Amino acid sequence: MEERTKKASIGSVQIGGGLPVLVQSMCNIPLSETDSVINQIGQLHDRGARLVRFSVRNMNEAGYIRKVVNSSEIPVCADIHFDYKLAIAAIEAGVAKIRLNPGNIKSEDGVRRVVEAAKSNGTAIRIGVNGGSVNRTGFSGSEERILVDHAFEHLRILENNSFYNTVISIKSSDVLSTLKANRLLAKECDYPIHIGLTEAGYGNNALIKSSVTIGALLLDGIGDTVRVSMTGDPLQEIDAAYEILKAVNRLDYGINIISCPTCGRTDRLIDLEALARDIDKAVNARYLKVIRDQKKIINIAVMGCEVNGPGEASEADIGVAGCGRGQLALFLRGKIIKKVNQDRVVDQILEYAGKIVAGIGLPAE
Ligand code: SF4
Repeated sequence: MEERTKKASIGSVQIGGGLPVLVQSMCNIPLSETDSVINQIGQLHDRGARLVRFSVRNMNEAGYIRKVVNSSEIPVCADIHFDYKLAIAAIEAGVAKIRLNPGNIKSEDGVRRVVEAAKSNGTAIRIGVNGGSVNRTGFSGSEERILVDHAFEHLRILENNSFYNTVISIKSSDVLSTLKANRLLAKECDYPIHIGLTEAGYGNNALIKSSVTIGALLLDGIGDTVRVSMTGDPLQEIDAAYEILKAVNRLDYGINIISCPTCGRTDRLIDLEALARDIDKAVNARYLKVIRDQKKIINIAVMGCEVNGPGEASEADIGVAGCGRGQLALFLRGKIIKKVNQDRVVDQILEYAGKIVAGIGLPAE
């Protein structure tokens, strides 16, 4: 990717400067339940998160941060509002990043002390402007102008204190406002940008709105780190983020399932939905880690009949196309190999995915 932004250092990772987009999420458990928070960070990491944030509401909770930092294999970020003493406590406990809007800290000396602590501990700061909570007094112009000017007001405070290890986010629950504000922000500054839609909702509602917003920004070349906000288990946020990255060709590894919607031609001869789901699950479970290391993309087509089936199946790395009751033709790298019974398809695809991963036993190009 083109280097549109400078880089920010977040503990052991960097964001921006054309690096791959970093996927992150947020714990939904209070810090006082420290072991559960540690466990959730571990699960998010296993699922693909490279940075996890948690909220710190008071000094009592700040007392748990060091244990979380010491137990986490990935950098963690403390989400703090208003209280500069909490920010300093989080920085001194070792978080790699704090999310804090310096303009919301009333004491100039407080801001200076946070910045000094962040500089001496190598901690990054994310300015996070949220459309639902900005004070519009004293700001004018379009909604996106107001949101960007808010971010710049916080940014100026950091820059006036010679602090530059900064990431910026501007989010709103409205797709268009978020898109316009991030496009304006990207035009007017070169700090790394954290993208996402806030309060996006739950289930398909959140998935679709987030995909439209994050996908459009990524296609514009905007976005260095991403969080898909979804009501519910944060593990689903990680899966959604990787699916979006995959859809806009910003992932250099992954299992890509191409499957048809089915129609009257399948005539219930094959349970294509179950087949696509089982193949996706089985291949990811067995090979995702290795293809992540190998930086490979495996395209698998699961098609209902001989109309569009052979075309898609032969263009994919592995493909199956329905060809009669419970029967599918199996393709490997464009060559038809054999007919397979529906109940043998998952095993056969696992075997051929194994050949692709090992790079052996493949038909000649
Ligand atoms: S591939 Fe066949 S079954 Fe699938 S949607 Fe197209 S025509 Fe229908």
